[in-house]
Amino acid sequence: MPFRESALPFDNTYARLPDRFFVRIPPRPVAEPKLVRLNRDLAQHLNLAPDWLASADGVAMLAGNRVPESAEPIATAYAGHQFGSFVPRLGDGRAVLLGEVVDRDGNRRDIQLKGSGPTPFSRGGDGRAALGPVLREYIVSEAMAALGIPTTRSLAAVTTGEPVFRETALPGAVLTRVASSHIRVGTFQYFAARGDLEALRSLAWHVIERHYPNVAGAEPYRALLEAVVARQADLVAQWLLVGFIHGVMNTDNTSIAGETIDYGPCAFMDEYDPATVFSSIDQLGRYAYARQPAIAHWNLTRFAETLLPLLADNEDKAVEEAREALKTFEPRFEARFNAGLRRKIGLFTERDEDLDLLRDLLEAMADSKADFTLTFRRLCHAVIGPEGEQGFRALFADGSAIDTWMSRWRTRTAMEQPDGAARRAVMQSVNPAFIPRNHRVEAVIRAAEDRGDFGPFEELLEVLSAPYADRPEFEAYAAPPAPEERVLQTFCGT
Ligand code: AMP
Ligand code: MG
Repeated sequence: MPFRESALPFDNTYARLPDRFFVRIPPRPVAEPKLVRLNRDLAQHLNLAPDWLASADGVAMLAGNRVPESAEPIATAYAGHQFGSFVPRLGDGRAVLLGEVVDRDGNRRDIQLKGSGPTPFSRGGDGRAALGPVLREYIVSEAMAALGIPTTRSLAAVTTGEPVFRETALPGAVLTRVASSHIRVGTFQYFAARGDLEALRSLAWHVIERHYPNVAGAEPYRALLEAVVARQADLVAQWLLVGFIHGVMNTDNTSIAGETIDYGPCAFMDEYDPATVFSSIDQLGRYAYARQPAIAHWNLTRFAETLLPLLADNEDKAVEEAREALKTFEPRFEARFNAGLRRKIGLFTERDEDLDLLRDLLEAMADSKADFTLTFRRLCHAVIGPEGEQGFRALFADGSAIDTWMSRWRTRTAMEQPDGAARRAVMQSVNPAFIPRNHRVEAVIRAAEDRGDFGPFEELLEVLSAPYADRPEFEAYAAPPAPEERVLQTFCGT
């Protein structure tokens, strides 16, 4: 039986919240919708019929030209600290939430069109997105998902047939973003800034039911805060373990569900340097690679502040509760990060001296500007014995220093099982060969924008869909950029 649009399973709990949570507004139609890519596997998982989505009616929906009956498009309200300064009203200025669907695992997911036209939150912006940033978000979010890191997903990208004007005219596009929800730290801040306690309470319970159903008992708000802290700590640890730099960790880009969200000037680091910053708008290095844990903690502190009136009747008591909850961030992050690093060098038990071993490797990497991803991937091969260590060694300028490290590492790995090929396989399952390297993402965008060629986009997505696999045919994608290919800056996705 052909799929009927009326069977689209939108079910919209956010649109049932009080009116002041959002503005009802349809996406603004575009001239000439054209499908660039549909994520068929994801569509299937969301119970959204892929063949229908790829049809003219489906593409019309993905472009915002057609609003299915069960959808209830809204632009959500939120505030946020941007680079440390509070903006009391941001909101979806270029996105609408079409509605929610329940996926095949029973999880509720938002379906949002990004680049769908102006809303009351646009603040003078055009509400649109250019093709380049849409492709970047599609690639990097899907790569993160394949790496196993919590993230929003990309269901589809369409071009609009309309130009958007930035420094120059660029092809316009709409991304269909899928998220556990689009509720941000900034959503809580929006109501807290207005002293709207009733809204805060409704939002907190919406979040508990949706994302943290195990939170209950005598102190639900404290438990909620701790649960959000834990997810952010885990998330940032996972970012660091693959060399990811978010680029704009503003509180409006911090998901309450703990997913990576809002891929603007994000990038993966090639050469290891903890101070790496790519974003052209981050002049002070606020969101540098190694600062991300501290910034996540700062953002969570802003979240905790919004909950103060709920945490206790007495202000001192509320502050104390918030402090205690925030204290759980650091040990949680450290534990997750160190355990991840141990696994990356092939250790599955814990010994006190491991932290020195890890620190010394990172220092040697920084000294040699070794490629972050290649270092760990090549170490997987070195684990089979001295015959496998050449590639790893070649990444370091000072051969004798890294030899000293290698012999300590061999002594340490010899203390536990498994060995040889078995250990290599386990190490390879946590050390990706393929990440969305900036020069590759740039090349994809250039081909699409300049020549209308989406072949490189498709191929890069294919490579990144299995980041831990050994695929000799894609060897070139594992390589760092040649000097002339290096991307030094990324630009915000606006
Ligand atoms: P972002 O930098 O994408 O996280 O966006 C920050 C804020 O600016 C959000 O409120 C966005 O909705 C808004 N915004 C970004 N780009 C545009 C645009 N082209 N038109 C209108 N609003 C925008
Ligand atoms: Mg944002």
